[in-house]
Amino acid sequence: MMPSSLARPRRSSLSTSLPVDRARVLDTLVNNLEGMAYRCRNDRDWTMLFVSQGCLELTGYGPQDLIEDGCVSWEELTLAEDRARVRGEITRAITAGKRFSVQYRIVTSAGQVKWVAERGVAVADEHGQPVLEGFVEDVSIRQMTQDALAHAEMRYRHIFEHASEGIFQTTRDGGYLAANPALAELYGYDTADDLIADLADIERRLYVHESRRREFRRLMETHGEVANFESEVYRRDGSRIWISENAHVVRDVNGEFICYEGTVQDITDRKSHQEQLERQANHDILTGLPNRNLLGDRLDQAISRAERLGYFLALVFIDLDNFKFINDSLGHAAGDELLVETANRLQRCLRTSDTVARQGGDEFVLVLSDHYRVNSIISLLERILVEIGRPVSLSGREFKVGASLGVALYPQDGDDAESLLKHADVAMYAAKDRGRNNFQFFTPELNRMADERLNLEAAMRSGIDHDEFLVHFQPKVDHRRRIVGVEALARWNNPEFGMVAPDRFIAIAEETGLIVALTDVILKKAFAAAAGWAQAHGHGIQVAVNLSPKLFLGEDLVGRVAALLREAGLPPERVELEITESVFLGDGERAVRILSEFKDLGVSLAMDDFGTGYSSLSYLRRFPLDIIKIDRSLVTGIEHEEEVAMIARAVISLGQSLRKTVVAEGVENQAQFDFLRYQGCDEFQGYLIARPLPGADFTALLARTGGQL
Ligand code: C2E
Ligand code: MG
Ligand code: MG
Repeated sequence: MMPSSLARPRRSSLSTSLPVDRARVLDTLVNNLEGMAYRCRNDRDWTMLFVSQGCLELTGYGPQDLIEDGCVSWEELTLAEDRARVRGEITRAITAGKRFSVQYRIVTSAGQVKWVAERGVAVADEHGQPVLEGFVEDVSIRQMTQDALAHAEMRYRHIFEHASEGIFQTTRDGGYLAANPALAELYGYDTADDLIADLADIERRLYVHESRRREFRRLMETHGEVANFESEVYRRDGSRIWISENAHVVRDVNGEFICYEGTVQDITDRKSHQEQLERQANHDILTGLPNRNLLGDRLDQAISRAERLGYFLALVFIDLDNFKFINDSLGHAAGDELLVETANRLQRCLRTSDTVARQGGDEFVLVLSDHYRVNSIISLLERILVEIGRPVSLSGREFKVGASLGVALYPQDGDDAESLLKHADVAMYAAKDRGRNNFQFFTPELNRMADERLNLEAAMRSGIDHDEFLVHFQPKVDHRRRIVGVEALARWNNPEFGMVAPDRFIAIAEETGLIVALTDVILKKAFAAAAGWAQAHGHGIQVAVNLSPKLFLGEDLVGRVAALLREAGLPPERVELEITESVFLGDGERAVRILSEFKDLGVSLAMDDFGTGYSSLSYLRRFPLDIIKIDRSLVTGIEHEEEVAMIARAVISLGQSLRKTVVAEGVENQAQFDFLRYQGCDEFQGYLIARPLPGADFTALLARTGGQL
């Protein structure tokens, strides 16, 4: 069927020499195009000479309505507002001999406005008259989408530029692809471009804790997004703020990573408000100490920690003795002052692992963690009583206030917070009954121990003043049993207790700080004796003295030892200092420094009780040690227990490979001596050779034997 539109003009436009089938193919194509092919005159009506079937779909008019302006002209179809522009553009193109392309609106037969795109060219018809041929298509949808896109882009740009939240796109490894002005302002930059240019390494430059960025990335990679992700970040000027981020991974249609995209909110105010609320909920307003609430938490934590580590936990109830009197007679302001001062003093006594809380009124509670000896708790309680007992000035007058302390220990006095609190309270009342200004344990046996300890401590103080401490000397021999030196061992000759061994008083001296004065006494006596032997017998006897690790925490240990040496007239080469591995436990670097200063002074250094501590080989290699003393526990049984023998062998060969003098302690029989000598031990000390002896006895021994035992 020949389409009706293929009227005369078609024949004339297509060469008559074309075979029929090709003409039909063209017809089919032209008439099945979505859109309208046309030929028209370049006149004021754009009079159509040919239009393809598509005109019906496009305009609502059939070909016969349009051809020769049968019903309506193309000029009339064109929206009035667009007519002049269309004509202008087409005319300009034709005049320039070019193709034209123009977009405009038409009104369909149904009155609907449509956007069309027209492309065409001017050609000459068979009579040599200029006509236009071209194609008009409906672009309403495309135009609408474009409009919508432009609109959306504009809207989103508006949101992006004017949002109060920071918005960003970044690469995976922390470079900005885009940032909006709000983000720039948040991070302290003038413009987003400044921010993008400057902040190239988010991980290190932005996040206060690098691990936060790593966590951010981990969440993004595993879940594809993060929500309300809070971190602390640096602004450009170095100040810190808290932010909350919501972000997701952007991927293309193939799932390929494009960027991270998200928003950032400044939550600093909320954070500090939150902190303040938490503080208020958990702290006492007057003293700033944790309140009953927080105490409960801390106590639970401390209990599970003590359980895990096997340490003691002490719960101490403190009640001020004359608080009511002060509060009533001087008024509440003075009472408050006293409570604040007490809180400060308590805090000064404690370590960071301890907690002091205000329970209410004049009651305070201490949670003492990580103590592994009851004795160190006793020392602390004594210090607290002394601190609280110091005069305090209230309303311009000085007062002395005492306190009663009750102590319950985990686990023996209770294994939960409630029973510990109850028992500490009971113990506190016992302290009040006992005349106030003292402490009581819940367990009676501990009170006996505390009493004994307190007596011992008081006796030690007076013992130092009354010269009750002396030194015994235990010889050390070489493999031919010739005396090469002595170890000075402290003894306490007390009128009441008799001769007390160091195991009972060194720890107390360490906890109370008496160790400093005690060491001075011992060194003085040991150095004086050694200087005497050198003069009287010409024997080159080494004297070894023990130094407590606690001394390494104080000031100028080296200076004091040097002064004592000078005073005694003893050359430093005669002296060995015995230390234990625990000097490295705290500040190891400091210990190494002090030991090097001792080396410079000219004394020798010995590692005592070797094999019992944690034997950090790295320290052993690094610090200037001369002697290793194998602990008695590695000597006892050496002659018949293969395992002990093996360890001893290993320690001896370790000492040899580090080029240290190896000394065996606690040698009690010949079999041990022979074994150790065979293994290559250099020196020997123990009851087999001699017990520790008073100075005079050792002098006599020297004289009698000439140093050969
Ligand atoms: P230490 O320095 O390892 O001293 C060796 C201890 O082993 C001494 O005990 C000594 O009497 C004992 N001993 C020696 N040979 C034998 C033996 O064959 N068998 C047995 N069973 N024991 C033997 P002592 O005198 O009771 O001293 C104990 C610890 O007290 C010392 O161990 C040392 O760590 C400390 N000490 C002693 N005097 C002082 C001192 O002046 N200052 C410091 N800070 N600590 C000291
Ligand atoms: Mg020793
Ligand atoms: Mg030892």
